Amino acid sequence: MSPPIYGKVALIGLGLIASSMALAMRRGGLAGEVVGTDHTPETRRVAAELGYCDEIVETARQAVEGADLVVLCVPVGAMGALAADIGPHLKPGSTLSDVGSVKGAVVQAVGPHVPADVHFIPGHPVAGTEHSGPRSGFAELFDNRWCLLITPQDGSGAEAGADMGLGTGDRDADDAALARLRALWEGMGANVETMDADRHDLVLAVTSHAPHLIAYTMVGVADDLRRVTDSEVIKYSAAGFRDFTRIAASDPTMWRDVFLSNKDATLEILGRFTEELFALQRAIRQGDGAHLHDYFTRTRAIRRGIIDAGQDTDAPNFGRASGRAPR
Ligand code: NAP
Repeated sequence: MSPPIYGKVALIGLGLIASSMALAMRRGGLAGEVVGTDHTPETRRVAAELGYCDEIVETARQAVEGADLVVLCVPVGAMGALAADIGPHLKPGSTLSDVGSVKGAVVQAVGPHVPADVHFIPGHPVAGTEHSGPRSGFAELFDNRWCLLITPQDGSGAEAGADMGLGTGDRDADDAALARLRALWEGMGANVETMDADRHDLVLAVTSHAPHLIAYTMVGVADDLRRVTDSEVIKYSAAGFRDFTRIAASDPTMWRDVFLSNKDATLEILGRFTEELFALQRAIRQGDGAHLHDYFTRTRAIRRGIIDAGQDTDAPNFGRASGRAPR
């Protein structure tokens, strides 16, 4: 087996993503030692019991001591205060990263606390489930999924990157740090792409953030209906509604922070969504079958593209064992 990519890795916030990272690093022999911490004693106790980290410590400052890589795995809204706390304790020459679902807000909140001799490379594994907490992780979570690593905007150069806390200003050292983090994510099974923070936030608003808000809304509406129709919504829920409920069961803290910190891009996409919804509403009212058919043909092709890119299964009903609604 090749030598580990990092000597000591510190994971802060032991939920779905951190526990999956610890398990994936262990599977690939990618770290000499993984140290974890969480602000909740019960979470630390569960993580210690499950044993996916080599050591669990009480505080973030203890965890980052001597770490070659520190990964913030907490909700986006908690990252700034955490960075302020650990910033002065980061090892010179080490790398600070995160896994937050929004990037512009993280760069703004964390960047100012990163010492000049530490490489700050924000990241986002585009992989997850609706489960959260220290028991929810699994080693395969990142297999064949994308991990986006954030680099300064094209052409803005190493100095501008250093101003945002992204990189140290030493281009060669920054490139080497990026290559190392890329190797870690690839070792954990992911495909890696680099992107700037604004682009990331717009792309994710389309592919993840707006769809989550729509799912929350749909389930919220159905929940109101449920009171009237005496549980018929649950009883007769077809695949469409069930898929919305899975998304709408995602962690409330995480998603509150996503919307509050990716406001502009999410509102832009929701504006477009509302316009298209009105157009479909009009087509239904006016009996414009051609419009509906054309629209649904286009969306079917998008689904085909996702399958062809290997990002989802072609099996009916997402490969669920039975097409019947669960009881
Ligand atoms: P999670 O399962 O809820 O885990 C987050 C953990 O961080 C919890 O154990 C939480 O403890 C802890 N925490 C919160 N504030 C902390 C602090 N100041 N110091 C130490 N620990 C703290 O969430 P997750 O799904 O792993 O998400 C973590 C990050 O990954 C988020 O930024 C999210 O946007 C991003 N992400 C999530 C997904 C997904 O699908 N879930 C996918 C990609 C990226 P308590 O619960 O006790 O407060």
